[in-house]
Amino acid sequence: MINLETPKKLKPLVEQAHQVAAEVLRPISRKYDTAEHERPKELDMLAALIDGMEEGGGRSGAGATGVGGGSGPPPKDDGANRNGSNLATVLSIIEMCWGDVGLLLALPGQGLGNSAIASVADEEQSKRYAGRWAAMAITEPEAGSDSAAIRTTAELDGDEYVLNGEKIYVTSGERAELVVVWASLDRNKGRAAIKSFVVERSNPGMVLERLEHKLGIRASDTAAFRLENCRVPKEALLGSPEIESKGGFEGAMKTFDNTRPLVAAMAVGVARACLEETHELLTRAGVDIDRSRPALAQSAAAARFLALEADYEAGRLLTLEAAWMADNGKPNSLQASMAKAKAGRAGVDVALGCVELCGATGYGEQELLEKWARDAKILDLFEGTQQIQLLIVARQLLGKSSAELK
Ligand SMILES: Cc1cc2nc3c(=O)[nH]c(=O)nc-3n(C[C@H](O)[C@H](O)[C@H](O)COP(=O)(O)OP(=O)(O)OC[C@H]3O[C@@H](n4cnc5c(N)ncnc54)[C@H](O)[C@@H]3O)c2cc1C
Repeated sequence: MINLETPKKLKPLVEQAHQVAAEVLRPISRKYDTAEHERPKELDMLAALIDGMEEGGGRSGAGATGVGGGSGPPPKDDGANRNGSNLATVLSIIEMCWGDVGLLLALPGQGLGNSAIASVADEEQSKRYAGRWAAMAITEPEAGSDSAAIRTTAELDGDEYVLNGEKIYVTSGERAELVVVWASLDRNKGRAAIKSFVVERSNPGMVLERLEHKLGIRASDTAAFRLENCRVPKEALLGSPEIESKGGFEGAMKTFDNTRPLVAAMAVGVARACLEETHELLTRAGVDIDRSRPALAQSAAAARFLALEADYEAGRLLTLEAAWMADNGKPNSLQASMAKAKAGRAGVDVALGCVELCGATGYGEQELLEKWARDAKILDLFEGTQQIQLLIVARQLLGKSSAELK
């Protein structure tokens, strides 16, 4: 049975992550929102500290590394109750994003490419890429939600693959040391031919075109690349080099079952920041919020706040469920998408609802509420948009394939 209290063994981790968020991230939150594209140097020290703790066997839980992956096979569903690395990471991400989601995404060593490597790499690759920051490059000008439509190609030439194509909207694409690039071995063979390749960021064939200017998460760099005869060793291919007509692409997509709860957790963290701040501002303004009484028997502002809080709570519980299921070897594809859809939408609704409740104070730059409202939107977009999550949920509930329901 799932128990909704924070497990005792994870409490110190949650407290530690909260302290980092409050003392390191919050104080520089506005600075790097304003100074878009400037590297948050304060995070280098934090990343080094986290690395040291992980090497020493402790868990910092500050970021996304190793979620759903890491070494060893996934746990079996044997009826035991485990609170493992998925739940630990989700709980600490919530705390860190209560601090600042853009800064969490900019934390060296915590890229989505790291999750892909952790999920798919063989032993030799795991060793080769250990401790290195990896971004993830799937999206192209002609391929967003439909990742099977990618046009980047990878051609075998002796002991190397030669990559050619264009990648856009790569989170941490400028600052990471590695980029996991999705490319097709044979465009005539459809999705089965899509493979991922680990490319050194310093590879001269990977040409940085530009950095994007964005609505939110401005502390996190978002890059566009051109791959121009970009040569990588054969060993840079993650997974099997064979084009298997069944299962190959589905395997790659399964990585998302691990990363969607993480993005959901980010949305939960931002929403909680908004609610806490709004609660304080409303209380100061004389609005009494009583959780023990029916919402509609209270002031309109209190009722609205309680409705937002309920929405947040639903997203949070789905997120914890998806992570807990992964820790316990239960297939969680459906719950991962439900969590991402609910928390992603609740994050946006809660953030905008809080701006509304606080009026001009919420809209101005003296508070962080307006920034959180801008930051929240991306969490309902990347790692699969709201609409795509609902499509995945519908397919699973109705037992339809992606060809039958699109
Ligand atoms: C800040 C930022 C960071 C990002 N980081 C990364 C990254 O690190 N790596 C990476 O590879 N990508 C990244 N992305 C890209 C992101 O994953 C894509 O933007 C996302 O997948 C949507 O693709 P698109 O923008 O092309 O929109 P489209 O796919 O063109 O969709 C446009 C709209 O149509 C809707 N839609 C599409 N298909 C359907 C359908 N079948 N049914 C109903 N509605 C549909 C979508 O939900 C959306 O609302 C990032 C994007 C941003 C903005």
